Amino acid sequence: MHILPATPTTKNPPTQFRGDVWLDVIASPQDGDQRMTVGRVRFAPGAGTAWHSHARGQFLHVTQGVGRFGVRGGTVIELHPGQTLYTPPGQEHWHAANEDCFMEHLAMLEAGDDPATSTTWLEHVTEEEYRGGA
Ligand code: MN
Repeated sequence: MHILPATPTTKNPPTQFRGDVWLDVIASPQDGDQRMTVGRVRFAPGAGTAWHSHARGQFLHVTQGVGRFGVRGGTVIELHPGQTLYTPPGQEHWHAANEDCFMEHLAMLEAGDDPATSTTWLEHVTEEEYRGGA
């Protein structure tokens, strides 16, 4: 066993995120057919992802602040520190911080059979969708 080298914090790209969203990779595949990736993601107030889905689903565990998580149809779930949300394979969703505070979560997912398909990115989230409209 060994301590993994620290990786620099990176800013997530504006094509897939709105506002300032920063990523620290905590764990990623090291050997053989490992698939697990764990990231710490920090969202500025009101910042969030575009719509997307994950080939093998995703677990999201909020560690700070208040998060907003949306699925198709207008449902928005508010998540607080200590709570874990699960999104099944292929479910289209988004993650964001509440507009009045930062939000940090751990994002855990497994790579798809083709790692390029682990996350499928879609269109940006509208203001109405962010607020919980249809
Ligand atoms: Mn996701």
